[in-house]
This record gives sequence, structure tokens and C-alpha cells, in this order.
Amino acid sequence: MKPLKIFILLLIHHVAIAQSSEYNQREVAVTIDDLPVVTRRPTPEVRQNITQRLVKALVENEVPAIGFVNESKLYKFNRLNSARVDLLRQWLEAGLELGNHTYSHPSLHKISLAEYQQEILRGEKITREICEPYGKSPVYFRHPFLHTGRSVEIRDSLLHFLDEHDYQVAPVSVDNADYWFAAAYERTIIDEDTAMQQQVREAYLKYMEDYFAYYERQSEMLLGREIAQILLLHANALNADTFDDLANMIRERGYTFVSLAEALEDTAYRTQEDTFTGKGGISWIHRWALTQGKQGDFFKGEPTVPAFIDDLANSF
Ligand SMILES: [Zn+2]
Repeated sequence: MKPLKIFILLLIHHVAIAQSSEYNQREVAVTIDDLPVVTRRPTPEVRQNITQRLVKALVENEVPAIGFVNESKLYKFNRLNSARVDLLRQWLEAGLELGNHTYSHPSLHKISLAEYQQEILRGEKITREICEPYGKSPVYFRHPFLHTGRSVEIRDSLLHFLDEHDYQVAPVSVDNADYWFAAAYERTIIDEDTAMQQQVREAYLKYMEDYFAYYERQSEMLLGREIAQILLLHANALNADTFDDLANMIRERGYTFVSLAEALEDTAYRTQEDTFTGKGGISWIHRWALTQGKQGDFFKGEPTVPAFIDDLANSF
């Protein structure tokens, strides 16, 4: 073979490796909200079943996930329910992390900052206690509804409060409406409509893949590269049933699952300016984009929920 030909072949080979390794460098942290469980079938059996399957799927897929707790859900008739606390222990037992999602899931846009701060402190009591034997403590805070404050002053006062209590904000980059598909899914379970269940699962997986593609593009357009993504999911039956498939899809896109701490090492989460004080609970990528004055076309192509999912979810 002529030297030039060898050189070209080597070059092609090198470029192919560079491209594939770049592709393989995608990272995503999985964060799961509204623990212990979100369901329309509030029985101990259903709660246990969802927790067990979700935690198992996370462990089997080697996903260092974090779950954000609403401690109000640990009480039944104002009394702490030990079975529900045990659901959280299953997360810790599996080596997963727990974070603070306030006591009762209020919106910062609807109550005073002082009340909100009380919600945060009240929301860490049990979590802190049960984390201790595992040598852990809650160090991440996730805003309910991703509502971060209608003014920069409120937002910054809260950040200061969180800092004083050794909390860091858990942003979201891959925002989506998994909770809406999950409501539709609960309807199909209650109706014992297995064919429809399957359709919901398939539509959900496609929708989530579209969302990954969307935020990969958005990140590329805004920052010229793909950031370490942070996915938001909820602790529901749909994710318990589909997480294996979801994890496969994510891996096939070239992602490695990382912890929230690792994802937050991406400089974007520290350096991107964010003055967003709008009503919506939107992706941090979109907050940065709006801060930079992006509008209209930039946001084009966001995946939508199919009508049949709306119909099922609206049936409650
Ligand atoms: Zn929530």
C-alpha cells in the first residue's frame, strides 16, 4: 500500500475514533421527583411495588440516581407512617441519593419566601434522620414545579438561604411531561387495558427520545457543545415499568449515567447567566437562552404530547 493511502486510511480511522469518542462522552444525571411515590392507586402494595421496581431498574442499569422527597407524603392522618419511610430507605439501601423537594410541594410563586423556607426545613427532618446511618445527608434541593421565584431578589434570597443550610440547587436540563404520560398510564392500569398500556409505554419512549434529541440540539445551538444533561423524572408506575427501555435508549444515544454531582461539574451550570423570573418551570438551557435574548425560532421543535395521552390523563 502506498504511504499516502495508508496515511489517508489512518486519518479516516482517527477521525472515526474521534467522532465516536466524542459521541460517547455524553453524560446524563437521572433525578427523580416526588418521592416516595406518585400514584392514583394509593395503597401500600402499589407504593411498595412501584418503589421496588423503580429502585431495582436503577440499580440494574447502574444509574447513580437521586430521589427528591416530599415528606408530607410520609404521613397518614398526621402520623408518620413507617411503611412509607421504609420506601425511602430502599433508595438508600440501594446506594442511591435522597434530596429535599420541600415538605408539601408548594410553588415559590404562590407563598412567601419565609413560608417557603419553613417548607424546606420541615421537608428534611426524616430524610436527614434516615440518611445518617448511611453516612449521607441531603445536600441537593429541587424547586417544586421548577418555580425558582418571580424576581431575582427572591431567587437570590432563597439561594442564600440554601447555601446557609448547605444545600445546592438541582437544576434540570431535560425537562419533560413524564407525569402526564404517567397519569395516562395509571388510567390504563385502572381500566386493565393492557393494549393501551403498551401504546402509552411506546409513545412515552418515543417522546423521551425526541426530548433528548431536542435538548442536545438546544445545547449545541446555545453553547456550541452538549452539556452534561440532567433529566427530570417522577417516581411513578410508568417509569418503574419502562426504565429499562428508557435506560437502553439513553445509552444507545451514547450517554454515560453520572451522579448529579458529576453533572454539575459541567461549567455551564456555574457560568451561564440566568436572569429568568418567568412563570414557567422550564429547562435551565431555556433559562440561559432567554437570558441571552433568544426568542421564537430558537425554541422551535419541542416535542408535544400525543392527543390520546391527553385524553387518558384528562379522564381523572
Ligand atoms: Zn415535584
